Amino acid sequence: MSGNAKSSSIRDVAALVEAGLVSPAMMDPLRLVEARYDIAITPAFRDLIQSADDPIGRQVIPRVEELDQAAFQMADPIGDARHTPVKGVVHRYEDRALLTPLLICPIYCRFCFRRERVGAEGGLLTDAELEAALGWFRQHPDVREVILTGGDPLMLSPRRLGRIIAALSDMAHIDIIRIHSRVPVADPERLTPALLDALSTEKALWLVTHVNHAAELSEAASQALRHVQKRGIPMLSQSVLLRGVNDSVEVMEALLRRLVRLGVKPYYLHHLDPAPGTEHFRVPVERGLNILRGLRGRVTGLAWPTYVMDIAGGYGKVPLGPHYLEAGPTMMEGVTDPKGRHHKWPNSDF
Ligand code: SF4
Repeated sequence: MSGNAKSSSIRDVAALVEAGLVSPAMMDPLRLVEARYDIAITPAFRDLIQSADDPIGRQVIPRVEELDQAAFQMADPIGDARHTPVKGVVHRYEDRALLTPLLICPIYCRFCFRRERVGAEGGLLTDAELEAALGWFRQHPDVREVILTGGDPLMLSPRRLGRIIAALSDMAHIDIIRIHSRVPVADPERLTPALLDALSTEKALWLVTHVNHAAELSEAASQALRHVQKRGIPMLSQSVLLRGVNDSVEVMEALLRRLVRLGVKPYYLHHLDPAPGTEHFRVPVERGLNILRGLRGRVTGLAWPTYVMDIAGGYGKVPLGPHYLEAGPTMMEGVTDPKGRHHKWPNSDF
């Protein structure tokens, strides 16, 4: 299906050429990428792209580098499959679990850690599968938090989403419902009153939007975030540290400042997962730490995300720092301030 850049999403290489986002000479090589990984660029995202190599274009326009596979890359880098007790549930940590009702997204990020699974084919749980997944939550009282993710749960119809929220709201042991979504920035018009009505619950419900660059927070996206906030839903953000997108102190600072100005608390900054064909996005950990060091003391603590790495293979998430305490031979001996100056610290504290 050929996409129309102004009225519907771009969904294939031919439409990318037609929109002037890739040269006709790249059509054949990129068709190999298209055969492997889905493409989707919403009109809202298309409007933000000046060139294929700008920070927005890089995130959604396919490149031939996606065909390169490094030895350490994995189809399922964070080990979803080995933590799936029933289709649509991922249970990695004791007190929380993921519910993935579908695998469709508004855009397909070229660095996605679930890129081998997400796509327009859907992965939509059938009614029976959804009931079985909800049944699993009912039978696990230790699970206090449900993270609705996918794919993108805000791609569900208001009716289906409302049904899921209502079922989770009826479970006494569930304290928190967390929704991970790219919709507020990728397709803000989708956040209709009907979809927001579907999020109505007595539980603590948090919306975590995935955004990697300040330019994604367009006027339409900002308006959508305000609509969410007017419903009393607190908002967090998560971002992925990506080469050529947000790998500098200045660009990261602009993103974090824009988020807090909009009342969105930056939550996670993810180190890139080793998914196939994503090496061109990789930023070394040391550079990530330096970016965070560069921000410390310069931006408000409210804007400070936790830089995290998911240990490949499904062993969980760990914070990466930067670290300020200085280890001596037997104990902590001092602390480094945000400007890199060293200070002694009384050892009795440790
Ligand atoms: S929206 Fe999330 S799940 Fe979907 S392609 Fe992007 S990173 Fe992957």
